[in-house]
Amino acid sequence: MISEIFVGQSSVCDFCDSEMVVVVFYCPDFIVSEAGGIKQHSIGDWMACHECANLVYESDKTKLVDSSVRSYENRRGIAYTQEEREAVGIYMDEIIEGFLSHYTGSDLIDEA
Ligand SMILES: [Zn+2]
Repeated sequence: MISEIFVGQSSVCDFCDSEMVVVVFYCPDFIVSEAGGIKQHSIGDWMACHECANLVYESDKTKLVDSSVRSYENRRGIAYTQEEREAVGIYMDEIIEGFLSHYTGSDLIDEA
């Protein structure tokens, strides 16, 4: 049986969880990975705050992965060990790599 995980459906920044979303990145659905029998999809457009949008424009994957790992920690109120941070980073890297190679364009959005 294949478990499925869907990412990318939210009204907060898809990278750092900020609620100050200013840019929408148009992105077709794509499969992130099927490693370990878990099929991960990215569904729909991605949202980004000002800071993360700039990182996307600069294709600064390292910083985007870093923000994403931090937001995971904040959301769960935990601090990863170095080892855990690297493991989560690898997972985030795969998702963000997929996004960077699939998104087709962007627009500013008005709501703050
Ligand atoms: Zn952000």
